[in-house]
Amino acid sequence: MTQHNILVLNCGSSSLKFAVINPESGHELISGLAERLDDPQASISWKIGSNKSSLLLPDASHQSASDRIFQLLGDLNLEQEISAIGHRVVHGGELFKQSTLIDSTVIDAIRQCQNLAPLHNPANLIGIEVAIERYPHLPQVAVFDTSFHQDMPKQAFLYAIPYTLYQQHAIRRYGFHGTSYRFVSQQAIEILNLDPAQNSLLCAHLGNGSSAAAILNGKSVDTTMGLTPLEGLVMGTRSGNVDPNLYDFLAEQCGYTLQQTSHMLNKESGLLGISGLSNDMRTLEQAESEGNEQAKMAIEIFVFTLAKQLAGLATSLGRLDALVFTGGIGENSARIRSAVVERLAILGLFLDPLKNSNNGADNNGVISKPDSPTVLVINTNEELMIAMDTHSITNTSSTITPSH
Ligand code: AMP
Repeated sequence: MTQHNILVLNCGSSSLKFAVINPESGHELISGLAERLDDPQASISWKIGSNKSSLLLPDASHQSASDRIFQLLGDLNLEQEISAIGHRVVHGGELFKQSTLIDSTVIDAIRQCQNLAPLHNPANLIGIEVAIERYPHLPQVAVFDTSFHQDMPKQAFLYAIPYTLYQQHAIRRYGFHGTSYRFVSQQAIEILNLDPAQNSLLCAHLGNGSSAAAILNGKSVDTTMGLTPLEGLVMGTRSGNVDPNLYDFLAEQCGYTLQQTSHMLNKESGLLGISGLSNDMRTLEQAESEGNEQAKMAIEIFVFTLAKQLAGLATSLGRLDALVFTGGIGENSARIRSAVVERLAILGLFLDPLKNSNNGADNNGVISKPDSPTVLVINTNEELMIAMDTHSITNTSSTITPSH
């Protein structure tokens, strides 16, 4: 019996993703998603090989959905296959610079970071607590979205606001999607046979939430998201960068409260806000092809903003080995990749249209012309990265305590 499988839990604000993964082969014994939690439509779906199943769990909370998942793992005799549990945690603040074995000190420290991610860290903590309750004998590891960016230099992470706000309240840029960036950058280094100590990459993680990062010699040196995931690129429903005075302007001119402006910037903006149609890129591409002008404008603004910020990130690199596209849009949209790279001719990037049209599938992900810096499509796998971290930390069995 294999004892090296890792249960990965990713508790979002209204969802819970789970998987049991062999960290060495990447094989998924089961993967699934409980979604619309705390809603009458709550449900859970899972996949074992190519067999898919689902059931309704009306009004299920994180707690009851976890209980159902654990019961499912028991029914399938998978519980005894699990050697450790890895948890995605969104915000580690400045306390966590790497993935960490969980103990009560670590739980307190994650709680301390709650004010930085009020929607996500509490959900992540519920996942940790229910897993400890059910599997007190198994080691558990926290893997943070923010920790990869903790290497960023001050010039990249400080806002030009009074320094005391950083000193007293840790207000700074943190960056997110770090687990995805670690995974795809390691893959790119392997695929391109780059020197792990000397390489320079731009990575764009483009999904419903989107960001980009400059990665030099395996370390993040700049990224587009900030104190929260709202900063940076145009996203599905998030605005990305706007003039911060918008808060004042909307309050004075339109009577908006802080909460209304935050809601508008996080939930009603981005692709959805501009198009008035959808936050989903597939829907917008379809509408654009049917002549919908607002869908076209939303795509153009998405592309323009992304290319502009990628060019800005390149200033931290000196030279460019490769540009990596990942996330639902980055992995699947030849239309977006081609429009972005067209705008990045200044970096010497040129796509091979045929390779781009099949998402690099026949070329190890490579979609660029041979005489240009490489452009790659790499499918991200955050769950596998969490499983790999959990395996390596629990195998060395050394507790890494939060650093400060
Ligand atoms: P994610 O958050 O990584 O799951 O990515 C979700 C986004 O990827 C949505 O905007 C989808 O419309 C987009 N996406 C997925 N497949 C495609 C596709 N074939 N073409 C364009 N966009 C896609």
